Amino acid sequence: MTHRPRLTVLSGPSGVGKSTVVAHMRKEHPEVWLSVSATTRKPRPGEKDGVHYFFVDNDEFDKLIANGELLEWAEFAGNRYGTPRKAVQERLERGEPVLLEIDLQGARLVRQSMPEAQLVFLAPPSWDELVRRLTGRGTEPPEVIQRRLEAAKVELAAESEFDETLVNTSVEDVARELLALMLSTPGEDPQE
Ligand code: 5GP
Repeated sequence: MTHRPRLTVLSGPSGVGKSTVVAHMRKEHPEVWLSVSATTRKPRPGEKDGVHYFFVDNDEFDKLIANGELLEWAEFAGNRYGTPRKAVQERLERGEPVLLEIDLQGARLVRQSMPEAQLVFLAPPSWDELVRRLTGRGTEPPEVIQRRLEAAKVELAAESEFDETLVNTSVEDVARELLALMLSTPGEDPQE
């Protein structure tokens, strides 16, 4: 096989707009497949089980880990999140590009287990903008926002570990750039 299927990991601080970028890209390109994670977090208003996440309790999450069903998992702001392994592997075996939208710890674990994965960092235009977005979301209590801001400070420093950085100034532009990266062949400049 000459074409190597590509696993792309989109990561970045909480509140930077990862899911908005991914949702925009998938509206334009519904054929792009995104892994649906399992989480112990409770659904936010409007979130659907099996669409945004597989919402599971702590025991179910423990079982997923014990059965080796997660490609990676991490604890983030008091909840656990993990990528179901099987669906990802099936798509890569079929030669289809795969996108994971996960936190920084998960991105590091993927790098270890799949060194050929492409790691893309989504950066905020500025720290003030990130604070504004996290605070303005209006769905989380202040202590949760505080935890996410603390995590974000650490996460911003990790940019250098990534293969590519996209700055989230415009959702449309970033979604287009992300798709180009996903479809690019390793080692090639996607702009060419
Ligand atoms: P949220 O609670 O805002 O939906 O997600 C919190 C963080 O968990 C985000 O940074 C999101 O990218 C990350 N996340 C979502 N799914 C996964 C996953 O399967 N694995 C890991 N490691 N992080 C995830």
